[in-house]
Amino acid sequence: MPRLSDVIAELDALWPPERAEQWDAVGTVAGYPDAEVSRVLFAVDPVQEIVDEAVRLGADLLVTHHPLYLRGTTTVAAGHFKGRVVHDLIKNDIALHVAHTNADTADPGVSDALAGALDLRVVRPLVPDDSDPSGRRGLGRVCELDHPLTLRDFAEHAAKRLPATAQGIRVAGNPDALVRTVAVSGGSGDSLFDAVRATGADAFLTADLRHHPVSEATQGSPLGLVDAAHWATEWPWCELAAAQLDEISDRHGWDLRVHVSKTVTDPWTAHAASTTTAGAPN
Ligand SMILES: [Zn+2]
Repeated sequence: MPRLSDVIAELDALWPPERAEQWDAVGTVAGYPDAEVSRVLFAVDPVQEIVDEAVRLGADLLVTHHPLYLRGTTTVAAGHFKGRVVHDLIKNDIALHVAHTNADTADPGVSDALAGALDLRVVRPLVPDDSDPSGRRGLGRVCELDHPLTLRDFAEHAAKRLPATAQGIRVAGNPDALVRTVAVSGGSGDSLFDAVRATGADAFLTADLRHHPVSEATQGSPLGLVDAAHWATEWPWCELAAAQLDEISDRHGWDLRVHVSKTVTDPWTAHAASTTTAGAPN
């Protein structure tokens, strides 16, 4: 049975921590390096429901995409929800490891998993990492569809392929426009509009889009925008990462049990469709 430090060394080879953004907080949050690991759970968010699931499962290691403490802390008192996560992890001998922006830009990374879930053919990174001579690492991916779809149908396709959330999928731009090339970026992607426009992609699928950036990106431009739930765009990475660790486990004869949480931790929990036209009596 491998020790935590053995498993972490392999995870760090997949997602080198030094490739994370300066502001990010990746790496091992809790865990004894010498503790034995037999069961691993992958999830997007290190929130209480996921820790409870890890406890039920008997996991020794929880690997999440999002950091627990992004900006540091001065307390892990269990009266605070994050402190309780720390206490429950330690009490139950569960290590926590985070791979965030270092997994976003990896090859394969978060947006490769997103493209894979949507059956898209990855052509290149949306924002290539200059330090990668192979030109495969970087933020987001530019992809091609095997058969062009209207923006509306592409959104329907995404709604079928991504895990269900209360938000569902929103579309901006002409729903009847044809989509042949699409840029994708798991997580919040509205800082990437200029890069997307530079690729000439017909559409951009990402999460967390807002009124003004979307309004400005679609005025006078044929670009279609597809806004999915943040959690749903990053969850496919958990399956990819679990498959990668499974393969590593086989190679070393570790016999790890690797699981992916299906718990929806997108914070939006319900959606009500509007039924009233502006100005109409209700
Ligand atoms: Zn994210």
